[in-house]
Amino acid sequence: MVNCSICGRPAVYVNRISGKAYCKKHFLEYFDKKVRRTIRKYKMFGKKEHIIVAVSGGKDSLSLLHYLHHLAERVPGWRITALLIDEGIKGYREETIKDFKRVTEQLGVEYKIAGFKEYFGYTLDEIVLMGKERKLPYQPCSYCGVFRRYLLNRVARELGGTVLATAHNLDDIVQTYVMNIINNSWDKIIRLGPVSGVSNHPKFIRRVKPFYEILEKETTLYSILNNLYPKFVECPYAPFNIRWTIRRMINELEEKYPGTKYSLLRSLLSIIEYLKKIPELSKGEVKTCMICGEPSAHEVCRACIYRIELGILKPPKEIIPILEKLGVKIPSGAVDQTD
Ligand code: SF4
Ligand code: ZN
Repeated sequence: MVNCSICGRPAVYVNRISGKAYCKKHFLEYFDKKVRRTIRKYKMFGKKEHIIVAVSGGKDSLSLLHYLHHLAERVPGWRITALLIDEGIKGYREETIKDFKRVTEQLGVEYKIAGFKEYFGYTLDEIVLMGKERKLPYQPCSYCGVFRRYLLNRVARELGGTVLATAHNLDDIVQTYVMNIINNSWDKIIRLGPVSGVSNHPKFIRRVKPFYEILEKETTLYSILNNLYPKFVECPYAPFNIRWTIRRMINELEEKYPGTKYSLLRSLLSIIEYLKKIPELSKGEVKTCMICGEPSAHEVCRACIYRIELGILKPPKEIIPILEKLGVKIPSGAVDQTD
């Protein structure tokens, strides 16, 4: 049995890089120190904030909500609201909502659940079926990611949030980094920093990732030790996501060569600095979607483009040339003729 390097009690965690072992009490202290250091290092929060915590109901986001709730008890100017996006995935979301409600009620945190159905008129399950019928080339996770990011920003703003905290941990970040290298998406890599959404667009809510330097196994242990660990339910669309293969590969590398994940993170941070020097990437001005008015990389946002291609949004006819320039496949008869 391994004992805690600090007090000699049985250890619950061993940091394979430093070789230090921690008992429950000292692991929680180590975790707290590490997250607080990340928050300070990247200047994530000010003295007065309404922090909207994006919660999926999974272990990481429940841990983040629990952690920030307790941290906020020591910061008088902070208010916390939990936000869950209900995509409408049968057999999956209902279960995670139960865990979400259990934890928010236990902590006494205000919360909001915003659904795809309520905002877009359709659940993700319905959207995936419509996309298949129309032979659109997108995977379920593409719709899910775009619509979820769109709603997180919009609803966080509607709730009066000043900052949106997401539970991406170090593992998530380096997986996304590798996925974007494979896809040659350098414009997305530049946005993988610990603080994003910093733009002058009045509708953009700044996003922070307090678990940016925390390993997934550490957030998992935090959730177990705090009795937050949810019932395991896997999203039925997960097997279609390349992320799971990359996750397995990176875990295998970490097992053989401890420290691989931190090396990848350091590589990402250096690459972001280089990319910031490339004008076309760094000065990508945030535009306003001509249809919905939300912040967007192009004249029309990705969420509106998907809705047009799915046939659930009729674009005004004056926008057609712009959509054609963006390569949007406009379904026949879908143009709104009203002036
Ligand atoms: Fe959405 Fe894909 Fe995650 Fe399922 S696996 S919740 S579809 S991003
Ligand atoms: Zn839009």
